Amino acid sequence: PGGPDPIAGFTQENSKWQRQYERLLSAIPSGKEGRSLDAELAAEPGLATTTGDRHRVARIVARLRSYGLEPQVKTYYAYLSMPKRVKVEMTAPQRRTLPVKEKPRPWQKDFDQVIPGHNGMSPSGNVRGEVVYANYGRPEDFALLAKNGVSVKGKIVLVRYGRVFRGIKPREAARRGAKGVLIYSDPADDGFTKGKVYPDGPWRAADGIQRGSIAQIQLAAGDPQTPGWPATKGARRIKPSDAPMLKGLVPTTPISYGAAEPLLRALKGAQVPKDWQGGLPFPYRTGPGGTKVHLDLRNDYQVRPLWDVTVRIPGSQRPDQEVILGAHHDAWTYGSVDNLSGAENVLQIGRALGRLLKQGWRPKRTVVLATWDGEEYGLFGSTEYAEQQAERLRNAVAYVNMDGAGGSEFGASATPALDQSVIDASKEVRWPGTDGTLYEAWKARNEGKTPISRIGGGSDFQAFFQRYGVPAMDLGAATPGSAGNYHCSCDDFYWTSHFGDPDYEYHAAMSRLVGIATLRLANADVLPLTYRPYAVETAGYLADYTEAQRKRLGSVVVDVSRDIDQAKAWQRAAEALQARADEALRKGDTAAFRRLNEKIMQAERDLLTATGLPGRSWYRHQVYAPGIDTGYATQRLPALYDALFVDKDPATAKRYEAHLHESLRAATRTLTP
Ligand code: GLU
Ligand code: CA
Ligand code: ZN
Ligand code: ZN
Repeated sequence: PGGPDPIAGFTQENSKWQRQYERLLSAIPSGKEGRSLDAELAAEPGLATTTGDRHRVARIVARLRSYGLEPQVKTYYAYLSMPKRVKVEMTAPQRRTLPVKEKPRPWQKDFDQVIPGHNGMSPSGNVRGEVVYANYGRPEDFALLAKNGVSVKGKIVLVRYGRVFRGIKPREAARRGAKGVLIYSDPADDGFTKGKVYPDGPWRAADGIQRGSIAQIQLAAGDPQTPGWPATKGARRIKPSDAPMLKGLVPTTPISYGAAEPLLRALKGAQVPKDWQGGLPFPYRTGPGGTKVHLDLRNDYQVRPLWDVTVRIPGSQRPDQEVILGAHHDAWTYGSVDNLSGAENVLQIGRALGRLLKQGWRPKRTVVLATWDGEEYGLFGSTEYAEQQAERLRNAVAYVNMDGAGGSEFGASATPALDQSVIDASKEVRWPGTDGTLYEAWKARNEGKTPISRIGGGSDFQAFFQRYGVPAMDLGAATPGSAGNYHCSCDDFYWTSHFGDPDYEYHAAMSRLVGIATLRLANADVLPLTYRPYAVETAGYLADYTEAQRKRLGSVVVDVSRDIDQAKAWQRAAEALQARADEALRKGDTAAFRRLNEKIMQAERDLLTATGLPGRSWYRHQVYAPGIDTGYATQRLPALYDALFVDKDPATAKRYEAHLHESLRAATRTLTP
């Protein structure tokens, strides 16, 4: 009474203690430390499983030890590609070998260790053919080509990066009989059309190449040969030809717009529709005709070791319950932004917690800090860890992820249960370049709103959230222009220290943010996960599903009205539980805390289905999955949508309606006080 409002999930008394903990913690991350970490870690390329990666891991371990922590290195073994030969040759109208790697810059050390353009997990191949331009390579782009009488059968398809996960592009090309794929970065998307290019500005230069995996992560994540179990030494491995992640691809490699320009310029055929035109100064044409290409890709596939780094800080009261804060440390090149920014913030929190531990401050629940390896190939390190720790993850309170977290523009995605935690933490952090908090800056850029998107695909939260039902949030902060360094050798210390975050103050602010979010979850009396908004959103998704059926099929084939009712019952249960929690917090009723927390921890897990989603059993979350045609963007109610609208299989959709119904009932039962 009389004091500031208690923190959500804390008693009045413990709020005071927590605020002091947060004040001490927030004082420790700094721009200076961020810069020193980045100068050290981004000095050498850090591609998963390479010597540079091993050095990076050793540096991370040494830093953590210097903070008084006890890091562990966990080794897993993953099947992955390394480019042995990358040859892209224009054979018509003239013969010309195209560049497949950026120019070195004088400040870039070990540039010979930076691999040339490579789409991870592409098959090898030596193919020749006429070129067809297919815009972003989405299903709708290929459909438009077909409508205009352009076939890609036997052709080499040239597509631009953007709009969807890059692995969708070769899959779509392969489905239509293409022999090979070139993916280039168009200047309209991240190059000179946008602003000054590297090294004069942040955007992609004419030689900048976006590397990146084309593994079919929308089907499964982690080492392709061990979907669902840990890729430890001697683990059972399926044949690569049986691996869902490697299905349906053709030889694919990325090029710069400098290399794509002569190919596009010589193309014949019809002029493209307006929204297919990119930023190069001539009208694009679809082909075929005019341009021919010879593509020779030899990728060396081996099972190679990779190394996660983890630290456990045991909780003083509930050591069995854990909050995990993680970010990948591997990178296609130097990876100053993607993702040393995130890994460095994890280290800054390690440093802060190390200091506070020495002063006697311990979290109540266990805090696990992690830097993951092999994210870039397909979330390997985080997935193998999660698959190995599956039992223990039943007691995980939350997973907090960062992937790109050192810039001015904050963005978040989360389970609805954690929205409020993200918002509350954002109010505690001052935002550089403003005279207010992150919360205020976030709202100022978004018409007074705090938009939080739903977790889809593309980073290390996937195994935790979508396979094991651990509530998750992904917190990021990008600088305008960072699209220009994505997976390019220009994602280096020079880029961040000149354009991205020269004072490393955004890094420090993001460290504080994730530190506070993590500690609140670790120390709360009653876990601040709120299921009311989750239930409301889910009811909304179900109503949309009914509407989509009316619009697209003309009738309702899969009736979800009982699920809408159940979601409403779930909502009422969540409200009742919240009332109990508020009362228990007011009274300081510690016996009630324990019972409430058990319920709160279970509810997200109730949304999993043991059978997994149709056609992609690795995925188990029934409310959110990566979109089958987008890879990154979320698909809500994935089983219901995919079965009915993609596979056109109402029987399966009905079966999954029953699974969902069972889950919603379980979630309701769980939360009922
Ligand atoms: N975040 C990485 C990317 O978009 C990895 C995604 C994946 O393969 O899962 O390339
Ligand atoms: Ca595995
Ligand atoms: Zn990343
Ligand atoms: Zn990346």
